[in-house]
Amino acid sequence: MKISSIVGKDKLTLSFEVFPPKTDSDFEKVKEAAFGVAAIKPAYISVTYGAGGSTSTNTLAIAKGIQEKYGVATIAHLTCVGASKDSIIKSLSDMRDAGIENVLALRGDKPKWFDGEPFKEYKYASELVSTIKEFGGFSVGGACYPEVHPDSANRQEDIINLKKKVDAGCEFLTTQMFFDNSVYYDFVENVRKAGIDVPVIPGIMPITRESQIENVIKLSGCKMPQQFIKIVDRFKEDKASMKQAGIIYATQQILDLYANGVKNVHVYSMNDSSVAGAIYNNLSDILSM
Ligand code: FAD
Repeated sequence: MKISSIVGKDKLTLSFEVFPPKTDSDFEKVKEAAFGVAAIKPAYISVTYGAGGSTSTNTLAIAKGIQEKYGVATIAHLTCVGASKDSIIKSLSDMRDAGIENVLALRGDKPKWFDGEPFKEYKYASELVSTIKEFGGFSVGGACYPEVHPDSANRQEDIINLKKKVDAGCEFLTTQMFFDNSVYYDFVENVRKAGIDVPVIPGIMPITRESQIENVIKLSGCKMPQQFIKIVDRFKEDKASMKQAGIIYATQQILDLYANGVKNVHVYSMNDSSVAGAIYNNLSDILSM
């Protein structure tokens, strides 16, 4: 099923992100964890991709497996850093053959192990979007950054570039994680003013361990509001309480988004079905409204 036909309906939906195994020896263990998230039967599942193609076979295997076993639509991430157009066409053919109908088109970041020229054939995700549209048959999404992508000088420049991605054929956007909903509302207002009218799906990351915070800030550059820092300080010494507090915080963010008119929320569930399931259960009546 095409994601573009799932988003935008007048009903709250939750989708989850899972990651594929990095090595073949981990395949069964990581697959079981990702399948545990799929068993919750969210609106759809996105499956990440190792920039430079390091997980390409496993991304596809997990996405195909989820669709076949659980009947849940998937969106396969695809990065273009270091890729040739031929290799992208091959990936798209493999996806089509596997029954995948949705692609999240990403630039990616140069992996440490990659020693070639990273931006030879593709410089930006918008160029990948153009190749996917040219290939045909996929619903195409892209990433966006409420707290500004680190390579951009400022928000205005970032949004001008985002518009190029949407003009190339990107049908919906998923945001980088954020922990203060006002950042998202402000971003969407600016995006709409710039003439971008596709759905902007908020990405919510439940923080259930203090140790996740440093990595999250390093990877995303997003700010932690005082309210959240206080919660972490209060509960970080007790694993079970910290997990519960993180789930409640993420649930409250989703509730506030829905109360403010947002219909589709993407949860960075990190292959943890207990966290994904708890958030789903917290919202079960609203999800079945
Ligand atoms: P782009 O849209 O190309 O933007 C990158 C930078 O270039 C921005 O600063 C933008 O403003 C600028 N830019 C864009 N177009 C132009 C232009 N025409 N002229 C000048 N500047 C321009 N990474 C992975 O490796 N695997 C994943 O599975 C993955 N999934 C992700 C999912 C989501 C929802 C998000 C938010 C990020 C994900 N990432 C993933 C991380 C992503 O690859 C990085 O953030 C990367 O640095 C940027 O990718 P992009 O697709 O947003 O790039």
